[in-house]
Amino acid sequence: MIITSDLIDLNELKMYINGEWKEAQNSETFSVINPSTGEVVAQVPNGGRHETQQAITAAELAFKSWSKLTAGERAKYLKKIYHLMHEYKDELARIMSMEMGKPFTEAKGEVDFAASYLEWFAEEGRRVYGETIPSSATNKRLMVIRQPIGVVASITPWNFPLAMMTRKVGPAIAAGCTAIVKPASQSPISALAFGKLVEMAGVPAGVVSVVTGQSGPITNEIFENPVVKKISFTGSTEVGKLLVTKSALQLKKLSLELGGHAPFIVFEDADLEAAAVGALTSKFRNTGQTCVCANRIYVHSSVVDKFSEIFVEKVKSLKVGNSINPSVQVGPLASKNSLSKVEEHVQDALSKGAHLLCGGQRIEGELADGLFYEPTVLAGVNTDMIITREETFGPVAPIIPFDTEEEVIGLANSTEFGLAAYFYTKDISRSVRVSEALQFGIIGMNDAVPTVAQAPFGGIKESGMGREGGHQGIDEYLEEKFISLGFETN
Ligand code: NAP
Repeated sequence: MIITSDLIDLNELKMYINGEWKEAQNSETFSVINPSTGEVVAQVPNGGRHETQQAITAAELAFKSWSKLTAGERAKYLKKIYHLMHEYKDELARIMSMEMGKPFTEAKGEVDFAASYLEWFAEEGRRVYGETIPSSATNKRLMVIRQPIGVVASITPWNFPLAMMTRKVGPAIAAGCTAIVKPASQSPISALAFGKLVEMAGVPAGVVSVVTGQSGPITNEIFENPVVKKISFTGSTEVGKLLVTKSALQLKKLSLELGGHAPFIVFEDADLEAAAVGALTSKFRNTGQTCVCANRIYVHSSVVDKFSEIFVEKVKSLKVGNSINPSVQVGPLASKNSLSKVEEHVQDALSKGAHLLCGGQRIEGELADGLFYEPTVLAGVNTDMIITREETFGPVAPIIPFDTEEEVIGLANSTEFGLAAYFYTKDISRSVRVSEALQFGIIGMNDAVPTVAQAPFGGIKESGMGREGGHQGIDEYLEEKFISLGFETN
């Protein structure tokens, strides 16, 4: 074991349920593997239905008093966790980096990003305004109040182990709900460390519980237990669709943040240097494993050679290595399956006529024990290739030339996904036309990193439903109630 700290003991990890640290009922554990080295980072409790039931029961009880606090009182707890996240930033980043391979410096950025949702929603909790409606009778007053929905569950992915949790749990507990978190099996330690911070902040028992383990038994209990009123899921579109059918049995409210296939368009009038930096950032952050990563880089044919030259030079200069090293920019893929998918997409493209401008191979040598793949740029890509349709989720950038604005909008929109899209241009009229024509929930116009806590994040089409962040993010955890008040007039 490499990490030991005041924050969490990796030799004795337990789940955080009802304010207590618990083993799985059957004492079972599962291993978390460091994708940079292939070493076991820790054994994590393999919780199931029993532990999930305990967490739900505790959340139901805690809801009675937590929902009665003022928003200001709840905000104090959120801000305490926010400050603790900053205090333990290096520790949290180290854990994240070791369990799922995010480069350490980038992981520190995720801690800031994750904490920003707690700060934002601590304040938004104070702005859960209602409404009054003009009455149609003199002896009636009509109003709408908004109340916390109850016990909620968050199912989170491994690629943003902290941020996907705080942007669900933050608004939930700010609104007065109580929450259960089921983190991905590849990144449960960050969630347990978050549980530790919740405890240190003095949040009452049962308000937030973290249950680790395989998805089946935990999520079955979440969907079947009538106490859980709302589920927020971030993960693949495939699993998201399954959850829609599961939620139907009790008509549970559901928000879904799913997969993407972001187009990144470089028009002929773009600042090519800025566009290349943007494409680099968008494509290679988290080793290409984000839902908003550029998946298809469309470049106007008059500038494609120049752009490719600038871009490839930057890609070649990326430092790849063990993610714990602070100077590393590209880490390993998170799992063997992820690595195989990257290899498959590149092989498919090459077999159908694409050629490599750089990269294209698994990295061996000193890094052979990890799941490393060279940062790769493909040219000569066409729509027959899998890479133009499916999320690669890896460090591979396909470049596709285009000739007209109309053509590229058609190409960009020809996907079932609708999460994020980017384009670079200096033409203001084109900016308006293209941003309105792209069928995506998030548009980065001359901006490769648009996500912030104060703006709504989410997709259209098969990229999901609901929004996280922004003032909209708290709505997901509130019910509207209409009250018609009759009274005696004088
Ligand atoms: P995933 O396989 O769908 O897993 C996500 C979560 O769902 C994990 O906690 C997982 O638990 C659980 N899960 C898996 N199968 C399940 C099932 N049958 N029933 C209930 N829960 C189940 O996704 P991933 O590979 O971790 O994450 C990558 C995907 O997330 C990509 O498609 C990416 O685009 C998307 N993503 C979207 C956003 C967004 O905001 N739109 C943000 C980040 C990532 P186990 O780990 O225990 O299986």
